Amino acid sequence: MIKDKYQSVKNHLQKIFDVQASIALLNWDQETKMPKGGAQQRARQISTLSGIAHELLTDRAFKSKVRDLNECLDQLNTEESVNINETFKQIERAEKLDTDFVTRRSALVSETYQAWTEARAKKSFSVYQEQLDKLIQLKKEEAERIGYNGHIYDALLEEFEPGMNSAMVDKIFDGVKNHLQPILKKINAQKKPDDSFLFKHFNKDKQWDFGIDLLKNMGYDFNRGRQDISVHPFSTGFGPDDIRVTTRISETNFSSMVWSCIHEGGHALYEQGMLSQNYGLPMGSYISLGIHESQSRLWENHVGRSKAYWEFHYPKVKNVFPEQFDGVSLNDFYAAANRIAPSPIRTEADELHYHFHVLIRFEIEKALLEGSLKTADAESYWNEKYKEYLGLDITDPNSGILQDIHWSLGSFGYFPTYSIGSFYAAQFHAQATKEIDNLEEQATTGDHSKLLTWLQGNIYKHGKRNSAEGLCKELTGEGLNYKYFEAYVQKKYGELYEL
Ligand SMILES: [Zn+2]
Repeated sequence: MIKDKYQSVKNHLQKIFDVQASIALLNWDQETKMPKGGAQQRARQISTLSGIAHELLTDRAFKSKVRDLNECLDQLNTEESVNINETFKQIERAEKLDTDFVTRRSALVSETYQAWTEARAKKSFSVYQEQLDKLIQLKKEEAERIGYNGHIYDALLEEFEPGMNSAMVDKIFDGVKNHLQPILKKINAQKKPDDSFLFKHFNKDKQWDFGIDLLKNMGYDFNRGRQDISVHPFSTGFGPDDIRVTTRISETNFSSMVWSCIHEGGHALYEQGMLSQNYGLPMGSYISLGIHESQSRLWENHVGRSKAYWEFHYPKVKNVFPEQFDGVSLNDFYAAANRIAPSPIRTEADELHYHFHVLIRFEIEKALLEGSLKTADAESYWNEKYKEYLGLDITDPNSGILQDIHWSLGSFGYFPTYSIGSFYAAQFHAQATKEIDNLEEQATTGDHSKLLTWLQGNIYKHGKRNSAEGLCKELTGEGLNYKYFEAYVQKKYGELYEL
């Protein structure tokens, strides 16, 4: 009886995922292949499928079966009970937002997104401010409906990083402020390494081939994935056997393609590492955005910006682009790859300044939600914070408060997951280094297979079996701790800069 009920819930969950995967495929196509003219009809197709997915999720018979099974989790095995309990939590959260609210929200989001696009075209925050304020009021309503124990922010953060709350994020950022701020002061007072050779001319096709080699070398499986070009690099998938990445190529900036390839490759390895038998189920899904980001950043920064990595790959770079890197030593290249300098744009920031970009957004969105900051004052507050934390004068709002799409889409509580991901990455990589003999030496020969096997066995294949905190404790013996990132920074940048 219980087994039958479970089987029926499982079938239904996989059906929901079939629809979601179809939406993802339409989105992928929209970003990579679709002719411009297709936009309106595509929006309609996606909206229809979203409606179908929502109907399936809120189906009464389905919900009551999930509820029944959630009452007798002890009669299910571990995998089954994770699938049921996670689905139950998802339904509970969804039920707090009725159809009327969801309809209002999606209408307001599309208006706010429009206003944001217009504001960027006019380079004026005030064009968008009133609309953004309406969306913030609605997000407050959403938080109240969902409920929270401490700060109103926690209700929204929970959607992206379950188990985390703003007090925990505050504590993590205390580490950032106390530790990183003085280090950046010291670094920024020093002479910057030359990186001009990264901005010479690099043929598109040659870069493309080189990027494919980098992905293959990481262990990305092209039989179950492919790479295409898009304006903003991303990874997406339709089940573990078809996980795709995109990249962008700038002929005048070599870094643009290289590290975005490795970053998206890291996201994709996580998804390709899920088990096919868990298709469409919580056991076959990522734990949180922070954990997802930890995988991209582990590969991008701990592997892809290490000297060991380039000991193997730099000779290949020189082979493909001999003129551009003539007279540039491995040490020069490594120093340029890890050049630290403040810049106003988050997505172009180095791996240290990056966390101040996130901190500023976190402080602002928290203040907006609790009401201590008015939307009308958000731009001047943003600019003050950039002066305070990064020493920058922001004059163009497009390089300031209008640079990110997130708030216009109603994604409040999303930004901290980027930093959380970096700090998990440092903690996991430190553990992998402890457990795998000669990890660094393997990287110098271009062999990442032991690292990939470690990640697959410890993280990828387990889907949502663990919470983020639970996974971290299981792997490293403690919850998320900033000190691992601190140690990584100390070692790497202590050598690169005289600290
Ligand atoms: Zn990412």
